[in-house]
Amino acid sequence: MESIQDHLAKLMNKSELSKQYQTILKEKVFADPDVQAFIKAHKDSLDREGVLKSASKLYEFVQEKEKIQKAAGDTSVSVVQGHYPRLVYHNKRILVEYVPSQDEINRRKIAAAKNRFKPYHISQEVTEANFDDLYYTDDRMPIIDKVISFIEKTKENPDDFHQGIYLQGSFGVGKTYILGAMAKVLADLGKEVSLVHFPSFSVEIKAAIGDNTVEAKLNQFKETEILILDDIGAESMTAWLRDDILSTLLQYRMQHNLPTFFTSNFSMKQLEEEHLAQVRGNEPVKAARIMERIRYLAKEVEMTGKNHRNK
Ligand code: ADP
Ligand code: MG
Repeated sequence: MESIQDHLAKLMNKSELSKQYQTILKEKVFADPDVQAFIKAHKDSLDREGVLKSASKLYEFVQEKEKIQKAAGDTSVSVVQGHYPRLVYHNKRILVEYVPSQDEINRRKIAAAKNRFKPYHISQEVTEANFDDLYYTDDRMPIIDKVISFIEKTKENPDDFHQGIYLQGSFGVGKTYILGAMAKVLADLGKEVSLVHFPSFSVEIKAAIGDNTVEAKLNQFKETEILILDDIGAESMTAWLRDDILSTLLQYRMQHNLPTFFTSNFSMKQLEEEHLAQVRGNEPVKAARIMERIRYLAKEVEMTGKNHRNK
């Protein structure tokens, strides 16, 4: 059987390529081990003409490979950045395709996880919170355990409903911070997590009435895979916000079994009696309707400790 080199030499003699180009092709392109291996692997479907007509693609492939090797500072093609070229067979021709390198795939994964974590009106400090920096004090351990347990359950059964947490405690104890740390881990697991400062959301949704974007704003949070309503009870509640917005939002999440978390300075009992029921006189039934949904979605846990703000 004739060698690939001989075969290629014959191919080129038949062509009308310029001398210089022929030299490049012969010494660089067709001498390249990847090119040789590719042609050999496709010898049944690639004829001489096909290979020659693909010469410019093969040249591109070899050049790109060379660039990557230079960039990597050594001859190892495994140390690639971004994309690397790969030869593909298509309809009697050879084409070059660019596939992301492992580094690039990892970078994309990190970027995608970053995009899945959606903070709205949340301080940068909280958006950067992570488990390594958490205070692991005795009074926090039961809460950290519950948060970790939620993460574990999500990891094991990502499509099932897992009840969230209603984290109740006074100002500055670290409620938002710990759920911020959780949110990022869940985003890394592939979940879309929206962490929404509820008082700011309330202001926005009220303003949205004017430009007819209420529906769109509401849908965004109705449908997000995991929702954290931060600081519920700190907003100025209205009947519309309670009965048309919050109620609709929670009803939807309950019906679709979408995990939902809350943080609040109020206990559930206080939220019901002192906040939700006190919008227009006393409306215990309307408040109870909301609480029924909150209780389905989340389990109340009290967080104690000192105020860690502004130290
Ligand atoms: P809360 O939501 O309970 O009012 P935050 O979560 O906003 O309190 O916490 C207040 C501040 O305390 C945070 O901005 C952060 O600086 C600090 N902090 C709280 N909890 C932790 C923690 N577990 N690890 C590190 N810093 C924390
Ligand atoms: Mg908070």
